Amino acid sequence: MTDRTNHQVRLAARPHGEPKPGDWAHTSEPVPEPADGELLVRLSHLSLDPAMRGWMNEGRSYIPPVEVNDVMRAAGIGEVVASRHPKFSVGDHVSGVFGVQEYAISDGRGVLAVDLSQVPAPTYLSALGLTGMTAYFGLFDVGAFSDGETVLVSGAAGAVGNMVGQLARLKGGTVVGIAGGPEKCRWLTEEMGFDAALDYREKGLGRRLHQAVPDGVDVFFDNVGGPVLDAGLGALRRGARVVICGAISQYNNLDRPVGPANYLRLLVERARMEGFVIFDYQPRYPEAQSQIAEWLRAGEITSKEHVVHGGVHDFPDTLLKLFRGENTGKLVLALGSEESA
Ligand code: NAP
Repeated sequence: MTDRTNHQVRLAARPHGEPKPGDWAHTSEPVPEPADGELLVRLSHLSLDPAMRGWMNEGRSYIPPVEVNDVMRAAGIGEVVASRHPKFSVGDHVSGVFGVQEYAISDGRGVLAVDLSQVPAPTYLSALGLTGMTAYFGLFDVGAFSDGETVLVSGAAGAVGNMVGQLARLKGGTVVGIAGGPEKCRWLTEEMGFDAALDYREKGLGRRLHQAVPDGVDVFFDNVGGPVLDAGLGALRRGARVVICGAISQYNNLDRPVGPANYLRLLVERARMEGFVIFDYQPRYPEAQSQIAEWLRAGEITSKEHVVHGGVHDFPDTLLKLFRGENTGKLVLALGSEESA
């Protein structure tokens, strides 16, 4: 094993604004051998998540920051290539938080077996991974969505956003999405079953929202923050629930994050706004996974992934796609060429 090389991407510096090439270090070291109780995984797919930007910052959060010089944290899928762990054997496919590297040693904590003969690896990172869990618990628990209600979702053509829309549609809801650009909006209405989709890059989002949902929305699932959050607050109806899932428009804006100016709509509409962290739902993941798997099998929802093929060295550029709106659905980096995937 030791004559093989493990290429890695490490955090070299804490970024100011959008991460730059100099914020990363590309390192390599011999592939390690697992010790007693450990397994060695060769990574095939990495999950790219907006939250990664937050993990690069110093300070208190829901999870400790990635330390400078550490391998960047990332969830992934891979194959066990050596094992001295009682629960995992060579040839098993597994998911876990393995980092941005080609090989990872693990003690098995948080590692789950996956069956790639049934479900492709990107779907394990998407509908059946944290993306699906976030959409499911965010909509049904935090958003307290009831069948037939009206849902507004921002970042609607992204991983979590399109899944939220699909779940609400499945339950008879009326769904309005907010996304960047006419192509994504068309995709949402023509292919994903959204009732309407609005391009936030065009002027007059608040006015267009009012035209689309004159009676207001029951749930506003916000992935974006900033001015889009304000526009959505303006569309609430009596007793609405605002789900603060994320605020990607502000993640690179640490000095002056834009907060909601329109928050008095919460008072007027007797609404509530609540944030959540999906990790708190871990004990209930199996419930969501089996329900989502059933809907996928029945063809009632689809898992949309945006797979980029490359090496771990492509991670820094690929991550930026999330902040530039260059992904539709769940962004996944598949390690290796398209032919070998
Ligand atoms: P994603 O939506 O697939 O990708 C990010 C999308 O955000 C981009 O495609 C882009 O789409 C949009 N975006 C980027 N910059 C923007 C800006 N300045 N203004 C408006 N839109 C912008 O990512 P995801 O993995 O599904 O995550 C979505 C959100 O959920 C993120 O905020 C993430 O942090 C959050 N999240 C939260 C939890 C939790 O536990 N609370 C768990 C998972 C994810 P456009 O082309 O439409 O601009």
